[in-house]
Amino acid sequence: MQTATAVEISKCKQCACGSKLAAQYVCLLPEKCNNQFLYCDDENCSSKHDHRMAKITSVMQHLKNQVGEFREKVSTLKSNLSDLFPTFEKLVKFYTASQKALSQKNSPQDGKKYRYLDELVAKIDKLYNEVDSYSLSLDELQIEYKLEEMIKTVDVQGERLKEEFTEVATLAKMDEELLWNIYEEAISTDYVNQELMDKFSPSNWNTYHGLQIKALKSKLDKKEAEFQAFKTLVEQKLQI
Ligand SMILES: [Zn+2]
Ligand SMILES: [Zn+2]
Repeated sequence: MQTATAVEISKCKQCACGSKLAAQYVCLLPEKCNNQFLYCDDENCSSKHDHRMAKITSVMQHLKNQVGEFREKVSTLKSNLSDLFPTFEKLVKFYTASQKALSQKNSPQDGKKYRYLDELVAKIDKLYNEVDSYSLSLDELQIEYKLEEMIKTVDVQGERLKEEFTEVATLAKMDEELLWNIYEEAISTDYVNQELMDKFSPSNWNTYHGLQIKALKSKLDKKEAEFQAFKTLVEQKLQI
């Protein structure tokens, strides 16, 4: 840890104060110091920054750790979804076709709410690759002590990647429940596509039948709820 944050003076820029000393400290409250972001050891310079002090290397390491944590989250999502996707792929293709048929029948406004797992998985794969090169570019900037560029990269690229992650983070895990959440409406229709169904593996068929039963149960539950509501209504009328 000591070596990770030891400052190599030769890598630092010269301080803007004109002392020709290395700008090796970071001002954590630059708005109080005429926006002088980096400063040096010179008495005239550092005395202006007695509020808080941080070594440039500590700030860079802190940023890198944060990015490392984010990368880890994206990597976990990829293992739980993309890496398990091939097992479900033929089934997903079938439900996507079924749901696309539904969206054509419904009005465009309704169609907007449909999501497709194959597209979402492709999105996660792309995000994973982007986060990987984002993290690598920060490593390179860190080696060269380009803290300002690191901060800019985190603010612009990092924020965009985080937003993209938020859109897919709730998918959590590739399983029967996720299929149900994404394709409930498609599962509940009696859509048939022989060409796509012929490609099902035995485990795809198991999942397919499991989901058919779930759809049937859900239909019965809805009918039961409707019946109970109707019964309550009749009872109320009879009491009058
Ligand atoms: Zn200075
Ligand atoms: Zn300051």
